[in-house]
Amino acid sequence: MKRLIDKLATTHRLTKDEWVELITGQDKDSTAYAATKAVETRDSIYGKSVYTRGLIEFSNYCRNDCYYCGIRRSNKCADRYRLTLDEILECCAEGYDLGFRTFVLQSGEDPHFTDDLLVEIIRRIKTDYPDCALTLSIGEKSYDSYKRFFDAGADRFLLRHETANKAHYESLHPKVMSYDHRMQSLMALKEIGYQVGCGFMVGSPGQTPDTLASDMLFIGELQPDMVGIGPFIPHHDTPLAGEPAGTVEQTLYLLSLLRLLKPNLLLPATTALGTLDPRGREKGIEHGANVVMPNLSPVRVRKKYELYDNKICTGDEAAECRYCLENRMKSIGHTLAIDRGDPAQTDCNNAKALSH
Ligand code: SAH
Repeated sequence: MKRLIDKLATTHRLTKDEWVELITGQDKDSTAYAATKAVETRDSIYGKSVYTRGLIEFSNYCRNDCYYCGIRRSNKCADRYRLTLDEILECCAEGYDLGFRTFVLQSGEDPHFTDDLLVEIIRRIKTDYPDCALTLSIGEKSYDSYKRFFDAGADRFLLRHETANKAHYESLHPKVMSYDHRMQSLMALKEIGYQVGCGFMVGSPGQTPDTLASDMLFIGELQPDMVGIGPFIPHHDTPLAGEPAGTVEQTLYLLSLLRLLKPNLLLPATTALGTLDPRGREKGIEHGANVVMPNLSPVRVRKKYELYDNKICTGDEAAECRYCLENRMKSIGHTLAIDRGDPAQTDCNNAKALSH
């Protein structure tokens, strides 16, 4: 696999067959080799400084019914909640004091939060915290709505594409959800001018080296600023409850390959990775990730934003989460940056600078 990893590290592109070969050929050696290359690449751009984003899960109501997700509409056991504008602002205030300079507003697709209300929330946060970046992760909306949020001040948008294979997408979502619309949404976000994040779950039911190769090709084409990946973890009240979880090993390998595919990517070591392995987030950083997203949501709602079983950090105050991660990063020779954490401007989308 060394040959293919070297090729990826130098040219930042592979053919579909090469991706399949690289993904299928994962073993201890290739994982370690990819990690070494990924860390070298990451360090040359971002050093040992890890970006943080304060995650505010402001509603777990959702009109969608994704088969994998614990807050899907059909899960009648989910205990639903919404935060008010004031509660969201309290999270930001606490986060700002703790050193966060990016807030991520994430929710299910909750019709209660109309465009007008979202615009009000965005304006307030950007007025109160002009030195902070604001990221939205609120699902699929129309082009016009995305444009309104952007004009109100939102800087970034996370919308995982979930899988770049249409049949696979359709096996994970009910018929009313459209693969094409999800992809069009990502294109719209890009066109409007957001910093865009896509991503997928590792080991989702039906995923194969072929669908993963499509994910990698798609990411190479979209050229997003961020890519969020984490292992699929079954939730007990969903149709996929009985399916096996994705693996930490494959997630780490794919993190390294993503770093080599696009060197300046913002790549989080996700909570799902930390849920499957107590050192998951540290390992993520050691395999090329450069972002962590501690939770800023009020503790009373933490457990309710349960996308999957056994989600970690649901009992901790925001400050505890921040310090815990700070210590975890220190233990592996990294520091948490007090910074918006924008993507580095490098030549490395085609990466001549790194290709020597
Ligand atoms: N409603 C928003 C936010 C979704 S939650 C949106 O549609 O973008 C954020 C991400 O959590 C999802 O995109 C999905 O990839 C991930 N997720 C959901 N259920 C999961 C599970 N069971 N295991 C791991 N990740 C999951």
